Amino acid sequence: MAAAETDREVPSALCSEFLNFSAKDTAAKWLQAIDLPKEVYQHLARYVPKIYCLGPNLNPQSEDLLAQLLLQAPLEWYLCGEEPSLGLAKLEQSNQPSQLCGHVFKVGEPTYSCRECAADPTCVLCMQCFLGSVHKEHRYRMTTSGGGGFCDCGDTEAWKKGPYCQKHEPNISDSSQEDPLANLSADMIARTYNIFSIILKYAVDMLTWDKEDELPQGLEPPERGDTYYCMLFNDEVHTYEQVIYTLQKAVNCTQKEAVSFATTVDRDGRKSVRYGDFQFCEQAKSVIVRNTSRQTKPLRVQVMHSSVVAHQCFALKALNWLGQIIRYSDALRRILCQVGLQKGPEGENSSLVDTLMLCDSKMWKGARNIYHQLFMSSLLMDLKYKKQFAIQFAKNYQRLQTDFMEDDHERLVSVTSLSVQLFTVPTMARMLITEENLMTTIIRTFLDHLRHRDLQGRFQFERYTAQQAFKFRRVQSLIGDLKYVLISCPTEWTDKLREKFLEGLDAFLELLKCMQGMDPVVRQVGQHIEMEPEWEAAFTLQMKLTHIISMMQEWCASDERVLIEAYKKCLTALTHCHSGFTDGEQPITLSMCGHSVDTIRYCVSQEKVSIHLPVSRLLAGLHVLLSKTEVAYRFPEQLPLSELSPPMLIEHPLRCLVLCAQVHAGMWRRNGFSLVNQIYYYHNVKCRVEMFDKDLMMLQAGASMMDPNHFLMIVLSRFELFHIFSSADCRKRYNRENANKDVVQQNSTLIEEMLHLIIMVVGERFAPGIGQVENCDELKREIVHQLCIRPMAHSELVKALPENENKETGMERVIDSVALFKKPGVTGRGLYELRPECAKQFNLYFHHYSRADQSKAEEAQRKLKRQNGEDSALPPPVLPPFCQLFASLVNILQCDVLLGMLGAVLQWAVEPSGGHWSESMLQRVLHLIGMALLEEQQQLESNSEDNEVTFNFTLKISRPGEAPSNTPSILALLETLQNAPHLEVHKDMIRWILKMVVSIKTMRERTAAAPSPEGAGHCQEQTVRDKDKAERKRKAEMARLRREKIMAQMSEMQRHFINENKELFQQSLEELDASTSASQEHSPSSWDSALVCVGPRRWRAGGSERRQVVTCILCQEEQEIRPDGRAMVLAAFVQRSTVMSKNRRRPPHNPESYDPLFMHPDLSFGTHTGSCGHIMHSHCWQRYFEAVQAKEQRRQQRLRVHTSYDVENGEFLCPLCECLSNTVIPLLPLTKTSCSSEQPGLSLWLNTTSQQIKALHSAQRKAKPTNAAATSEILTVEEYPPPEGFRLDHMPLNPYSSSIKEMLTTFGTATYKVGLKVHPNEQDPRVPIMCWGSCAYTIQSIERLLVDEEKPLFGSLPCRQDDCLRSLARFGSACWSVSSLSTVQSHFVRLLSALVPDPQVENSPCIVDVDMFHLLVSLVLSYPALHCQDSSGLSVDAAQLHLLHLVTVAHVVQILLSSVPVELTMEQESGEVEREEEESVGLLYNTLKTHLGSSLREVSSGWHLWRCVKTGILPFLRGAALFFHHLNGVPAPPELQALGAGEWEALCAYLCLPSNLLQLYYNHKEVLEPLLQWWCSHPVVHQCLQTPKTLISYPRESNRLIELPEDYSALINQASSFTCPKSGGDKSRAPTLCLVCGTMLCSQSYCCQTELEGEDVGACTAHTFACGAGVGIFLRVRESQVLFLAGKTKGCFYAPPYLDDYGETDQGLRRGNPLHLCRERYRKIQKLWRQHSITEEIGHAQEANQTLVGIDWQHL
Ligand SMILES: [Zn+2]
Ligand SMILES: [Zn+2]
Ligand SMILES: [Zn+2]
Ligand SMILES: [Zn+2]
Ligand SMILES: [Zn+2]
Ligand SMILES: [Zn+2]
Ligand SMILES: [Zn+2]
Repeated sequence: MAAAETDREVPSALCSEFLNFSAKDTAAKWLQAIDLPKEVYQHLARYVPKIYCLGPNLNPQSEDLLAQLLLQAPLEWYLCGEEPSLGLAKLEQSNQPSQLCGHVFKVGEPTYSCRECAADPTCVLCMQCFLGSVHKEHRYRMTTSGGGGFCDCGDTEAWKKGPYCQKHEPNISDSSQEDPLANLSADMIARTYNIFSIILKYAVDMLTWDKEDELPQGLEPPERGDTYYCMLFNDEVHTYEQVIYTLQKAVNCTQKEAVSFATTVDRDGRKSVRYGDFQFCEQAKSVIVRNTSRQTKPLRVQVMHSSVVAHQCFALKALNWLGQIIRYSDALRRILCQVGLQKGPEGENSSLVDTLMLCDSKMWKGARNIYHQLFMSSLLMDLKYKKQFAIQFAKNYQRLQTDFMEDDHERLVSVTSLSVQLFTVPTMARMLITEENLMTTIIRTFLDHLRHRDLQGRFQFERYTAQQAFKFRRVQSLIGDLKYVLISCPTEWTDKLREKFLEGLDAFLELLKCMQGMDPVVRQVGQHIEMEPEWEAAFTLQMKLTHIISMMQEWCASDERVLIEAYKKCLTALTHCHSGFTDGEQPITLSMCGHSVDTIRYCVSQEKVSIHLPVSRLLAGLHVLLSKTEVAYRFPEQLPLSELSPPMLIEHPLRCLVLCAQVHAGMWRRNGFSLVNQIYYYHNVKCRVEMFDKDLMMLQAGASMMDPNHFLMIVLSRFELFHIFSSADCRKRYNRENANKDVVQQNSTLIEEMLHLIIMVVGERFAPGIGQVENCDELKREIVHQLCIRPMAHSELVKALPENENKETGMERVIDSVALFKKPGVTGRGLYELRPECAKQFNLYFHHYSRADQSKAEEAQRKLKRQNGEDSALPPPVLPPFCQLFASLVNILQCDVLLGMLGAVLQWAVEPSGGHWSESMLQRVLHLIGMALLEEQQQLESNSEDNEVTFNFTLKISRPGEAPSNTPSILALLETLQNAPHLEVHKDMIRWILKMVVSIKTMRERTAAAPSPEGAGHCQEQTVRDKDKAERKRKAEMARLRREKIMAQMSEMQRHFINENKELFQQSLEELDASTSASQEHSPSSWDSALVCVGPRRWRAGGSERRQVVTCILCQEEQEIRPDGRAMVLAAFVQRSTVMSKNRRRPPHNPESYDPLFMHPDLSFGTHTGSCGHIMHSHCWQRYFEAVQAKEQRRQQRLRVHTSYDVENGEFLCPLCECLSNTVIPLLPLTKTSCSSEQPGLSLWLNTTSQQIKALHSAQRKAKPTNAAATSEILTVEEYPPPEGFRLDHMPLNPYSSSIKEMLTTFGTATYKVGLKVHPNEQDPRVPIMCWGSCAYTIQSIERLLVDEEKPLFGSLPCRQDDCLRSLARFGSACWSVSSLSTVQSHFVRLLSALVPDPQVENSPCIVDVDMFHLLVSLVLSYPALHCQDSSGLSVDAAQLHLLHLVTVAHVVQILLSSVPVELTMEQESGEVEREEEESVGLLYNTLKTHLGSSLREVSSGWHLWRCVKTGILPFLRGAALFFHHLNGVPAPPELQALGAGEWEALCAYLCLPSNLLQLYYNHKEVLEPLLQWWCSHPVVHQCLQTPKTLISYPRESNRLIELPEDYSALINQASSFTCPKSGGDKSRAPTLCLVCGTMLCSQSYCCQTELEGEDVGACTAHTFACGAGVGIFLRVRESQVLFLAGKTKGCFYAPPYLDDYGETDQGLRRGNPLHLCRERYRKIQKLWRQHSITEEIGHAQEANQTLVGIDWQHL
């Protein structure tokens, strides 16, 4: 094909020229040339336009071929100086390959990083290197690449350990220092240098060329025609749809072509959309520009001369060629690097590499991609030039970033994205910081691009437009670069590095100063704000900077001098920010409890306040580092500690915390949601490390340097609570205060918040530097407190913990010390549970708890304590000691102001009135008291010898107030409260406190005086405890009684509840069903001996057993099922199925002409019927369905929303269980049969039947007198009189009531409609066939399911399936009553003709092409149509038995014909019992051989044949047993209700068959022998035996879902090499694997959309129709998600069968933990599929989650 096109497209005149061309000669000419560049350019000028761009459609194959021949070959000849293939091979041999892997990642390829050894998270390995590395045994992380980037294997800086994989392990002999050029001859070097400079220059010139109609000097084509291209360029502004629409208009193409153009433009960045003369192209251009310029800037279009385009095409080719050539040798690579980086004539930054970079934003996507790749494979792979390149990159940094801001392409296709490759190398980053001042450059560039400022120079993002937002997002990539630079903290500092880092820090502080105080808010009173102010931009900035700020601190902490300098700088910056600190703010003096302090008058609720204080927070962080690194103690003289003004330090953080408190108190309601959101993020795990946490630290730092009384007074004042606590009689006045109720409420909340803040200031000591702890202690505490709320999965915990810059929480290291892991089951996920001994570390006022977390944790912990039989007090935990710098903070606990506050609150609690106090307040006060007592106890315990412990809280709380008020002491108040009836909940805590007081007093006494034994106090305590115990016991008893009562109510409701929430309780419901089903139907086992389900001797139910009474779920009335009664129906769902298909390649049938009478044994398409088993009156159901329809119509008009079911297609949800249904099956009683005397044997019966059939044929022909041969037909009628008792004119009485008849029609039509995908037509003769087929198929699928699930044939089915099968079978035998009798009769006739020759029937199928079970079911179910006209006393039972025997024999023959030869080495000796069977089957096989001759293989082993028959026919017999069991209502024998041996015999007995099936044949040999001969004479048999592969072999194995690999990354790898089948080698964006057949599809993408039934559908939907008859199960590989699809509108996502080590799935592959196949879960999905529950599952998922309904599933 390609060759033919080449011939056609290359003008013949040129052919000869091409043929005569010699690359060798050209190269030789070049070698002689004086001006080589000119020669080469001439060559290019001549040939390039002749090869490229000769017509409207580019033809890559022929172009490539010619380019190789005419352009590349001479270059290679010149380069090598000999035959290129030889020369290059030599080069490759002498090459010393670099140790770098450098594999460039494709989109979607898996990448691996080691959490333990990677220097930073950007260090990754390709799959091959990973598998050969030590890291696969470590804790690793797996992600999919977004494209670009390369494997870091071999880079010693990237890995702390194991930098090489096995493949890239360096040889000891070679030294990497060696110059690769050493191995190359000088000649070769010179040539390479020459040719590389010419070609690279050429490529650069062409790619950066911006003239449309001219070429660079020396490249002008010899002849130029008027041929142009109209070139369309990509932009990120216009949508796909806009482009497609415009193109259709402008260049008059079809939609398909337009889609293809748009796809290419999107992928390559440009595409010619028209070829022709200038005029023609210009015209298209103007239409496109006109059409797209309305709302936005127009699409970029250029009309370019074909020769320009041709040279650009070749320029790309040339770059590719360079990339390829340098692979042969590191020396060539180095030369290319030299050429690229050599300064050009213009001096600085004028090398070819610079030129390319600086033009980056002007190039189209395709060109950028190609040169980026060349950079990666050349500059970045050569360590020497990588450095030089990095320097050039840094020099151009600002320019590149500015270009990028103005460009609109994604960052991925910008040269700026290479920063990750350069900056993350630690030595490189440090070199760039010191040499190029990179840190400062990045920050300055960033600041330059954020121009929105307010008057004070702070950032202001108000009036923040979409376009600004877009710009802002691009600017953020600079922060990413800064992060790369800082990613690894230096271990050694040089003076230069210090200098440049601190310079960078200065720039950074400038940035933070612009943020300090941004987005200030003022409390809105009166009116609600009109417009929500912009807040997201500021927070985005804060969030992005969070890691940077943390990293800056880390850098500072690694060097004492840097830390000291940074601290000074930061302090200066803060002072600068607060230079107007006291401006306009009145100084005031506060006095309380005998202390006074000067401060300012400032109210958060009245003045401006901002949540953004990054400078203060950075200082707080550095302050803690001073303490942690002990710099503060070692160099106090160098620190400006004396300059610190603690009130200034705490002022702004305190305001911010007060703001939060006031928002909680509801004081800022009128400020809208933006403030609520800000407060939320302030505390959120993503931001809190550099926001809330640091504010708290700053408060701690400030307070530690102040008098605690002063600190608390300022806090009270900022909380606007000072007036409440400062008055002398505050304990009473507050009581009397008759304030507005809202204000009281607000104040209560504020007091709670303030007390909480004090608890945190004193109690939060887990940051290293504040308390004497390690890093891991802090983490442990976080985890403990998360798990105190409830057990959590690994991912939940990770989410709740802050990440560090390496995206690591470090959790794994400590988790096992505080938690126990519980493995998941088949659903759910693995959970971590707190170790019981860790519960005592629980702190109710843990600073990271939200209010909701706090109350959940409190509840959980109290419950735990009750379960353990402990009291319910939750006292504060014992805390670690403070570091020296913060040690004075404990004094807050015993200072006068605090004691005053505690006393006041306790007093209010003693005399509660008017709701001025709250329990939360009291609880906090008790907590504070507890903390103080613990502090005192600890100090006493650790007190060595004689030092007096100055912390004496117990003493202070024992002192009553002084005169004149004489208030009671805190201790006294507590004792009073202990007996207060309204404080039941807090009693345990108060008791705990009092006990502590006693024990501390004892301790003090013991140290003070001689130790005295615990006396009376102890005794008293004892009795109190006993009383408590009794009381508690009584309460427990009451609680138990109450619980029991509730339990009784619960269980009553449970059944109902389970039904309501069916999907949750699927399991339990099935169990319930199974138990009831077993007890109801299979109990009678007293008849064992005579349990036969078919034939005249079958078991018959007595009168009372026949009666069946059911309850309608809609009206709750009971109803007996009677033929003449009101119809009862089962909700049912009919669906097409390919679950059992053995041939997925069979094309779907044409629904109009398909004849379904015979099912092919490959079972390629079937119709499955299922039911939830819920029974209704038919009229109740009809009323319900009409209501659903009406409601749906109204809803669609009103809301245009979809539902999970399609009413127009007859779908509805079962009114009880909401199971998706699309029809109902009527319930029918057993037909009455009498056991009449003697019944005819097989041959007699066959005889009679064939007479009956002949009579039918005659009658039919008589009915059609139009036939030309009418006269002769009449004769035949007389020839075949009907047998005795068979009356053709007899119209049998229809036994069913009209409502039953109506339902029979309903179900028949539904099965027909769904099964064939046609419009309903109750007259169609295929209606009954479809019903019988569905009955057979459903039984077959259930039989398979039971085998797969290893369950016994009977007794294990849930009752809904039993009900469904029974109804299906009985329906089938009754459906003749609503169809035309003659139709059903003719079906029977044709069915029988497959086994018994009937000259009147043409085209009867060969027995190898018929599924015997379908045949049996259809024969049995259609027979009543014949029997109803017979009054001779023939019984249906006899006919059923004869049909069973006949089909069984045919099946045996079928199996023998298809039996597979087996190696006969394992001939088994069998017992005597089976000897007989083996002999008879051997005989039969020989008979077959006599009929078929040599085409039947030679099999001498009777044992083997018998085994084939026995295993092959078992599914058929089991199916037949299920069928007759339900049809005739015969109980199953106990042998079949359990697994085990004896199944064969039991089955044969139950089916009235001899256990040696061959006897069937020999007993009726005289009838069957001729039939056998006739079967074998069918021509198809011979054909099939020639090609045995076409034969289905028995038993048919159950289908499984495809095998999945154990390791998920294997799948990712497989998907990454998968290319879209439609767009030539492109990577697919959403590779999706069909789990049924294993096909990989390109889902969710325009390229692979196809038309299905007049609608555009995605690849998955299209595939389901071919592969799964509309139902599909897929694995979306990139998302790690299972997708269920049904039809075009239904779908849902399902948990994938892959779990990480923590027992969790990773949908979306966000966490990157290694994933492994969970076989149980995969089996569960397989079971859903095998039992046809996929559609049902989707229905439930959609009902549970309405958003699923809105998804466009058909486009996936
Ligand atoms: Zn690699
Ligand atoms: Zn490697
Ligand atoms: Zn490792
Ligand atoms: Zn009813
Ligand atoms: Zn139901
Ligand atoms: Zn498939
Ligand atoms: Zn595709």
